[in-house]
Amino acid sequence: MTVEVIGFGLAGACVALRLQEQGVRVRVVDDGLAGSTLVAAGLVNPVAGRNFEPSSRVQDAWDEAEAFYCDLDVTLWHPLPIKRLWRDEKDRAKFERKREIVSPWIESVDEEGVTWNQGGWLETARFLTIARERFCKNGGIISRAQDEVDQRIWCTGSAGLIRGEFGEVGHRCAKGEILTVKICDWNEKRILTKNGWLIPLGGDLYRVGATYDWDGLETGPSDDGRARVEKILRGFTQRDFEVMDHVAGVRPIIHRSEAVVLFKEEKGWMLNGLGSKGVIYAPSVARDLVEKVISEAELSG
Ligand SMILES: Cc1cc2nc3c(=O)[nH]c(=O)nc-3n(C[C@H](O)[C@H](O)[C@H](O)COP(=O)(O)OP(=O)(O)OC[C@H]3O[C@@H](n4cnc5c(N)ncnc54)[C@H](O)[C@@H]3O)c2cc1C
Repeated sequence: MTVEVIGFGLAGACVALRLQEQGVRVRVVDDGLAGSTLVAAGLVNPVAGRNFEPSSRVQDAWDEAEAFYCDLDVTLWHPLPIKRLWRDEKDRAKFERKREIVSPWIESVDEEGVTWNQGGWLETARFLTIARERFCKNGGIISRAQDEVDQRIWCTGSAGLIRGEFGEVGHRCAKGEILTVKICDWNEKRILTKNGWLIPLGGDLYRVGATYDWDGLETGPSDDGRARVEKILRGFTQRDFEVMDHVAGVRPIIHRSEAVVLFKEEKGWMLNGLGSKGVIYAPSVARDLVEKVISEAELSG
């Protein structure tokens, strides 16, 4: 069986490598336009969002993701404690109401906030480079789309959702902007979250973000986005900073960052909608999808 994977972002890379693990011949078609994987912060947070809600099946997905990325290259994955700072008294009260539900992830609680016992970030852009190398080393082919293929899997991210490739799916894709800043001698080593997040990259560099915009999806970095990210940064520190980089991308969202797998007879399979939780879920969702594709192919002879 030969499978064509369209799109080589996080989703397509995981699908292509999972197919190869099962001995399937794979061809990848990617249009080379930068997808969201290239700009993503790669943050993995067991209890993200305003309402202290753990992501579903988070522990299993986490274990599988960590093993998958570390098998490619252990230096891609940066485990770091996450400190979720209180926004205000109401926020802290909300945490107290959810405390039991999130207790598996609590390392400690103090006047500043709660520290989760798991956290980290993946170098998503470098992941793509290394995944591509592994894919090619395993005999994978990167080419133009071709007619002769047994199955197709569309992993085209927000571009595919905005084009309406799978028709009625609908989307809630959200543009996001991120700054890389230099803050001298701060020495903050934890990931901080509050109204956004801040990731220490090492040395005096930090990534901070991100905005969420549901309109104007096609435009790049903006002055307004930069101002809003700077405001997020001010929620973490009053120190002087220098902006070193400013990027924007569009998160592929269908419903609450839950991955969606679809099949259409005339097109093939789709994996999309990874949203803000792509890093944690992509490896396990890709494995599930590959198992389905293989078992359907076996059933249809
Ligand atoms: C600002 C920002 C911050 C983020 N932060 C995080 C985070 O902290 N943690 C996290 O888990 N996630 C984060 N994300 C989300 C993360 O980027 C996505 O979940 C994930 O990268 C989506 O991967 P994908 O493969 O579905 O899409 P993409 O990475 O967009 O890949 C799709 C690929 O398909 C190609 N393509 C599209 N159409 C075609 C076509 N017709 N033919 C050929 N190729 C095609 C594109 O060029 C692209 O290479 C963030 C995203 C943004 C924008």
